Amino acid sequence: MDILVTKTSKPGTLPQEDKLGFGKYFTDHMFVMDYQEGKGWHSPKIVPYGEFPIYPSALVFHYGQATFEGMKAYRTVDDRIVLFRPKDYLNRFNNSNKAVCIPPIEVDFVHQALKKLIEIDKHWVPGSVGTSLYIRPFIIATDPCVGVKVSDTYKLFVIMSPVGAYYASGFKPVKIKVEDNYTRAVKGGLGEAKTSANYAAGMKAGVEAKKEGFAQVLWLDALERKYIEEIGMMNILFKINDEIITPPLAGSILSGRTRLTIIDLANDLGLKVTERKISILEIYEAHEKGQLQEVFGAGTAAVISPVGELTWKGKTIVVNDNKTGPTAQKLFDTITGIQYGKLEDKYGWIDTVAKL
Ligand SMILES: *Cc1c(COP(=O)(O)O)cnc(C)c1O
Repeated sequence: MDILVTKTSKPGTLPQEDKLGFGKYFTDHMFVMDYQEGKGWHSPKIVPYGEFPIYPSALVFHYGQATFEGMKAYRTVDDRIVLFRPKDYLNRFNNSNKAVCIPPIEVDFVHQALKKLIEIDKHWVPGSVGTSLYIRPFIIATDPCVGVKVSDTYKLFVIMSPVGAYYASGFKPVKIKVEDNYTRAVKGGLGEAKTSANYAAGMKAGVEAKKEGFAQVLWLDALERKYIEEIGMMNILFKINDEIITPPLAGSILSGRTRLTIIDLANDLGLKVTERKISILEIYEAHEKGQLQEVFGAGTAAVISPVGELTWKGKTIVVNDNKTGPTAQKLFDTITGIQYGKLEDKYGWIDTVAKL
């Protein structure tokens, strides 16, 4: 399939890099492709970023058939534009699609389209330390119909946003509320999918936690309210007695690509990573015994997010003196080192898109 390219007549410019923030600005172009039952995915095109017509009756607005991805392109120290594990993100996109009856994309084709889009907008990739181009592929159901059904038509978009350094002034360990009341997802539901509904489900708890002075919530399992799941919209890892422990992919949490990268790196960094069920009680007991060394979140936006305090049922524990631990720091330095071309990529994770 050929990708039809229509370039903008009014190209924009990259804002000042220390003012980027997250997800506020968009590049000149976007990728769009349509799906129709019987015809498959068709009419791929790159067009100027902007509004598009859609019926108010489109199924996505009513029944939430929508999935998305979030990955990044980086400008390396030797001025290449690179993607990090792009096919691993696009394969996960299809797992999410399956969960809400959206037809699968053809990963290789969308990967090539994505590279073409980035090449066209390559001057939008910021270059200062910690900045990147955030890439947001998403699919929405577009049948104009308020009768409940699986849509026969969809639109796939890829939009891109230059984003600032997450830690402009160094790591800041965050305060986390262990959520005892609300639930994000449960096994058999949509927890494993990157779908809008999960974000809607998490908002009320997040708002209440912020009002109480916390940065985010730590989700417990919905059935017993005992086992750790995720932290906000990131995976979570604990370092106890020199072992890194993270909850298993058991149906209610997302398979984070950052989590996967940490597991893949563990051997080479001399870290022991174990995927197993771990209860909040075990965390508090480990802290009591002086064995809880580090807690951190992992996700594409921040890479690593150190946790300085946990509060559960009103009882607060301080982790590693509210400081970033050596393992969180080492993982952050290694992953970002590979992404920005400062460290050798032994793993084949870096996909060079363009040279400046
Ligand atoms: C996107 C996401 C993550 C992090 O995944 P990465 O691939 O590492 O960015 C974790 N949990 C949820 C619920 C998410 O939506």
